[in-house]
Amino acid sequence: MLKDTFGRIHNYLRISLTDNCNLRCFYCMPEEEYNFTPHGQLMQVDEIELLAKLFVDQGISKIRLTGGEPLVRKDAPAIIERLSQLPVELHMTSNGIRIDDMLPQLVAANFKSINISLDTLRSERFFQITRRDYFDRVRANIDLLLQHGICTKINMVVMKGVNDDEILDFVALTKNNPIEIRFIEFMPFSGNKWTSNQVYTQADILHQIHKVYPTDPIPAGPHDTARAFAIADHVGRIALISTMTAPFCAGCNRIRLTADGKLKNCLFSQGETDLLTTLRAGGEVLPLIQENIRSKSKELGGQLMTNFEQIDTDFLKNRSMITIGG
Ligand code: SAM
Ligand code: SF4
Repeated sequence: MLKDTFGRIHNYLRISLTDNCNLRCFYCMPEEEYNFTPHGQLMQVDEIELLAKLFVDQGISKIRLTGGEPLVRKDAPAIIERLSQLPVELHMTSNGIRIDDMLPQLVAANFKSINISLDTLRSERFFQITRRDYFDRVRANIDLLLQHGICTKINMVVMKGVNDDEILDFVALTKNNPIEIRFIEFMPFSGNKWTSNQVYTQADILHQIHKVYPTDPIPAGPHDTARAFAIADHVGRIALISTMTAPFCAGCNRIRLTADGKLKNCLFSQGETDLLTTLRAGGEVLPLIQENIRSKSKELGGQLMTNFEQIDTDFLKNRSMITIGG
């Protein structure tokens, strides 16, 4: 069992498959020239399977594939196939571009849910945010997932002055689609030029929504990071992820494996433990995992203020989001 010094049991592992991506979202990737990790330094199919099995033996019951963009890896179908054989709930977060290419493999893997990131419903704005022209494909692929009965959620990072005027358009999507729209507060990472006044808070989001729709809170599980709400006569629902204004560290059950095989016990942790080098050298990985979990800080990697308006990003020591795996 992977228990930290605050008694939190970790049963949810997020595995980043790559730091490469076919989009360039400004809030995720550093603006300066970025060199993607060469393939040989990434965990290979067998290594991912081996590490995942080790974690499952330690009580991991849920795995989410993420990145970078997990589906840009040519061997993503092989990785998905291997992990789908393990006794875990399999989930994925993707930008949605390659869903149509890999649909049969995704259907066969029996994903419990797939989250697609989409921050705007306007194609010109999609280009401004992602610096690529894939809006129509992503939008069509969301419909494709729904047509195939795959539980689908949309992640929208809400940023003041960027897309906060589209919140109600996203809520409207839940009227006839069995979809969850997850409104995410903008978070600071290395190189993403975050400032606190760009954060559109969950209170702001709910305030906008309540002008038009009454909402009913849906009871949350002990580890849920999202507060979900139903809306009368809507088949879908909405959820809010309030990392900046109301962090949910007390119930945290998640750990992260970066694409180059480093274990991070928190999205905001400074430290990380290199599992891949030890695995390749034939060393013992389990004691490293246990030590990493024991060193987990109580809140926000021990380096973010709980009052987000006082965060000074100059003092933030972390990777960029694309290299952590969101
Ligand atoms: N490429 C995939 C995608 O975009 O869904 C998976 C990786 S992405 C890093 C995972 C999630 O992190 C996405 O939903 C993205 O919107 C979110 N994300 C990235 N940077 C963020 C930030 N600065 N604040 C909040 N969420 C962020
Ligand atoms: Fe790529 Fe996802 Fe980051 Fe956008 S949010 S740059 S799609 S990894």
